[in-house]
Amino acid sequence: MQTFRALVVESSDPQSARIRQASLDELPPGDVLVRVAYSSLNYKDGLAITGAGKVIRSFPMVPGIDLAGVVLESASAHFKPGDAVLLTGYGIGERHWGGMAELARVRSEWLVPLPEGLTLKEAMGIGTAGFTAMLAVMALEAHGVDKTREVLVTGAAGGVGSLAVALLARLGYRVVASTGRLSEEGYLRSLGAAEVIERSLLSAPARPLESERFAGAVDTVGGAVLAGVLPRVAYGGSVAACGNAGGPRLETTVFPFILRGVNLLGVDSVMCPREQRLLAWQRLAQELPKPLLEAMVRTVELEEVPALAQAILQGQVRGRVVVRLA
Ligand code: NDP
Repeated sequence: MQTFRALVVESSDPQSARIRQASLDELPPGDVLVRVAYSSLNYKDGLAITGAGKVIRSFPMVPGIDLAGVVLESASAHFKPGDAVLLTGYGIGERHWGGMAELARVRSEWLVPLPEGLTLKEAMGIGTAGFTAMLAVMALEAHGVDKTREVLVTGAAGGVGSLAVALLARLGYRVVASTGRLSEEGYLRSLGAAEVIERSLLSAPARPLESERFAGAVDTVGGAVLAGVLPRVAYGGSVAACGNAGGPRLETTVFPFILRGVNLLGVDSVMCPREQRLLAWQRLAQELPKPLLEAMVRTVELEEVPALAQAILQGQVRGRVVVRLA
């Protein structure tokens, strides 16, 4: 394959994303060449493809912060042609050509062998969003979240949110899902949410301390919603902060931290250390019920991605979007 199909963002012009043939010699350096089977659409890809966020560091760029596929060529002792692999983060789709192309050349140390029990498509159904949700769950577990109280997920109908609801419910937590789309209540309950609440209940200005309700929270929204979550976390509880779909600024007080011992836990999927990365993927393969994953995934062709990139930024995408390359 001397040339291959790719979605390319040619320049900082927001209209410059287009599908074209790319050549092998355009690919960045790396010791493994992967035939990409699937990528997925994450919020960050929306920012990259539309130019709404300064995600892309050099042009032209193939977006796609994750991919799953099969090794075609390898100069690494750890991978051989035919191996099924997945990759999230490490700057692919930002500073290194990413997953929205039929081929990707990457560094072997970024690759995760496809865990047993997952197909390539399922791996991208999970994708960066699901990996992040699992990291958030692991962070809460490490801080001993009290199972007798409720756990909150914000931005619940989105990608990270849907996976977090499903994983936490599966683990036996009573999950409260916060959403701006109450029309998705049935969907969220089907993933395991015990209760669905309207986002504005959290985003309205809160007192420094409200009644203690949640033992923990996975927050994908940030901004006013996170500010509304912290005063409602029970004594010793924890909030795993993973996103900023509702804004990056956090205006709060120190009282939840100094009077209730609340923990604010940062979650980063991009540079997550390898040992934790492998563990999270192993757990995802074993613990995420497949029917729930299927229920939250929609598969699209590369041509549909630019329009969906706009939609995901407007909070109009439900669950996960898998992009088919092969
Ligand atoms: P999605 O767009 O799929 O989900 C985001 C959800 O947030 C939406 O579905 C919506 O949920 C809610 N939302 C959207 N806009 C607003 C708004 N203006 N105000 C309040 N809520 C809003 O995105 P992803 O799941 O892919 O990503 C979620 C967030 O997590 C993003 O900020 C992303 O950048 C971040 N992220 C961080 C990672 C990390 O490594 N830390 C990795 C992956 C993602 P609803 O309709 O239910 O209210």
